Amino acid sequence: MRRAWIRGSIGGAVRMNAGGHGSDMAASLVRVRVVDLAGGEDGAVAAPALDLGYRRSSLASTQVVVHADLQLAPGDRATAEAEVAEIVRWRRANQPGGQNAGSVFTNPPGDSAGRLVDAAGCKGLRHGSAQVSTKHANFIQADEGGSADDVWAVMREVRRRVADATGVQLRVETRMVGFADPTDDPAPEPEPAGQPDGVAGPGGPGGPGGSGVGA
Ligand SMILES: Cc1cc2nc3c(=O)[nH]c(=O)nc-3n(C[C@H](O)[C@H](O)[C@H](O)COP(=O)(O)OP(=O)(O)OC[C@H]3O[C@@H](n4cnc5c(N)ncnc54)[C@H](O)[C@@H]3O)c2cc1C
Repeated sequence: MRRAWIRGSIGGAVRMNAGGHGSDMAASLVRVRVVDLAGGEDGAVAAPALDLGYRRSSLASTQVVVHADLQLAPGDRATAEAEVAEIVRWRRANQPGGQNAGSVFTNPPGDSAGRLVDAAGCKGLRHGSAQVSTKHANFIQADEGGSADDVWAVMREVRRRVADATGVQLRVETRMVGFADPTDDPAPEPEPAGQPDGVAGPGGPGGPGGSGVGA
C-alpha cells in the first residue's frame, strides 16, 4: 500500500480514493462502516459498492465513514521502509512544502494538470496571500495567516487562464467548504449521478438488512 506521505484521515482517504505512486485506497480497501447523517443508518458497505475511481467515490455528502478494513500484503520491512523513503525523497524533490492542500486540480485524461497550469504561464501567479507554487504548478501555497478566499481566487484565475490557453476545463480536486456563493464554485464535483443517497446504505440493498452490494 503506497499511501506514504499523503496527509489526512482514513475517512477522507476513502471518500477521495486517495492515492499516488501507482496505488490508491481501492487497491486495499475491503469494506467500510458508514453512518448516514440524513437517515441514521449505520452499517457495513463492501468496497465495490463505493464505486471508487480517480479521486472519487459514490459516497454522498451525508455519509460518514467511521471505520475501514484494509487488506494488506505481507512484505519485508526493510524493503517497505526503503520504498517509503524513496517516495518521501521524490515528494520533497518535486513538490512544495509549506502551507498547501496538495494537488488542486485533477489530471485530465492523458495529461497532467500541473503541465497545463505551467503551460498557461500560471506558475508564481499570486492573489493576495495565495500563490501558485513555483516548484509544482498544481499546488497553491498560502502565506502564514493567508485566506481561503485568496486561494479560491487563484484557483478560479488559473482555471480561466488554462481554459483560454488550452481549451481544457480543469476540475477541482480540493473540496471547497463554506463559501458564500456555491454557484461560484470553479468546478464542483457532482453528487454521484442517479444516486441522490450515494451508496446503498446499510438499510438499503447493500446493508446488513439488504442484499447485493453490502458487506
Ligand atoms: C501536502 C499534501 C499532499 C497530498 N498528496 C495527495 C496525494 O498524493 N494523493 C491524494 O489522493 N491526495 C493527496 N492529498 C490530499 C488529501 O490529503 C487526501 O485526499 C486525503 O486522503 C484526504 O483526507 P482528509 O482527512 O484530509 O479529508 P478532507 O480533505 O478533510 O476531506 C476530503 C473529502 O472527504 C470528506 N470526508 C472527510 N472525512 C470523511 C469521513 N470520515 N467520511 C466521509 N467523508 C469524509 C470531506 O467531506 C471532503 O469531501 C494531499 C494533501 C496534502 C496537504
